Amino acid sequence: MKSQKLFKEARRHLPSGVNSPVRSFRSVGGTPVFIQKGIGAFLYSTEGKRYLDFCLSWGPLIFGHAPAGLIRTLQKEVRSGTSFGAPTQKEIELARLIKKAFPSIEKVRLVSSGTEAAMSAIRLARGVTGRKKILKINGGYHGHVDSLLVKAGSGAATFGVPDSLGVPEELARLTVSIPFNDFDSLRRVFRKEGGDLAAFILEPVPANRGVIPPKPGFLEEARRLTKKSGTVLIFDEVITGFRLAFGGAQERFGIKADLTCLGKILGGGLPIAAFGGKAEYMDELAPAGGVYQAGTLSGNPLATSAAIWMLKALSSSRVYAELEKKSGEFYEEIANRIQYFRWPLQLNAVGSMFTLFFAPKQYAKFFHSCLARGIYLAPSQFEANFISTAHRDSDLRRTVRIFERVLKKIF
Ligand code: PMP
Repeated sequence: MKSQKLFKEARRHLPSGVNSPVRSFRSVGGTPVFIQKGIGAFLYSTEGKRYLDFCLSWGPLIFGHAPAGLIRTLQKEVRSGTSFGAPTQKEIELARLIKKAFPSIEKVRLVSSGTEAAMSAIRLARGVTGRKKILKINGGYHGHVDSLLVKAGSGAATFGVPDSLGVPEELARLTVSIPFNDFDSLRRVFRKEGGDLAAFILEPVPANRGVIPPKPGFLEEARRLTKKSGTVLIFDEVITGFRLAFGGAQERFGIKADLTCLGKILGGGLPIAAFGGKAEYMDELAPAGGVYQAGTLSGNPLATSAAIWMLKALSSSRVYAELEKKSGEFYEEIANRIQYFRWPLQLNAVGSMFTLFFAPKQYAKFFHSCLARGIYLAPSQFEANFISTAHRDSDLRRTVRIFERVLKKIF
């Protein structure tokens, strides 16, 4: 069936026709593409049209869609049942693999979404410090956690204003937010209220306002100041974990967080996420500790098997070197053209994630022109695009040619 017809029907049954807001194409206009299937680097719509996919389910699919080994694992595992609500040996195996990737993690708890990981990490930080306030970054997204759905203030540190109806002001006021890469604001907030901050939660490379590389020394300064004030440093590596290196941003930049949130690539498209860190903190979780946290489907055997397959595949191959190489060549081709044609564009990229920043309102045109030519980008300007191992060099060269054709028309 045609996407337009499906979208009309979907809106009768689902709010705005979708189960997560960005899928609705609201910020770029038009009708979302309804997907039939994904194979390798490609998505196939219900109309049978093929798209080279740079959204990759918003990050998880580092091997592209439906890698054969993952599918075989799931087919085998599903025969043993779908959920037990009791511990399994697989959870130990996965915890070991996560700890191998992230040496800052001494103990880990599995959850089902990135939102849950961030929400639980914050509760734990409040529980172990006995403090209430949370520091975050303007525009930093950590899932739809009440305390973290706070409007990005501009300039100096601001007290939070809720970003969503339904979030009590009293709660949002406990969230303080500062701009990324702003050393002055960072130092000021710790000087003024470091002793009241339970946690500083940040994406070490922000990817939810488009990709923003950290200025040299910013993450180090965050580490130094949190340590000094007894604030729990939480790296939300839901996107960067297993993306920027096997050990995420922590490996890439050589910094250890106190608590880390993981998701997305961890499950390769299955609903699993995790948070972990110092054992002295993690042992404060229920049942032994006083910080309550639980989940019927936590450590779900199918999702856990998928995660084990993903982490084994990521640790035993040259995934990252390969991704860096082909992404680097791709960016270079785009950057050369931006310079040559003097397009008013900025390409930001770290590893295999990138954003092309346009002047306001121009992105929608670019997005739809690419979509019409079979390139599926993130349907919003302020999102990261991703490259997978399934993207061949020839796919990326073709993308550069399409970008060139489209951009010549726009500018
Ligand atoms: N943290 C970050 C950095 C994210 O990008 C996201 C989702 N885009 C989340 C947390 C929330 O994850 P989920 O959508 O799985 O709840």
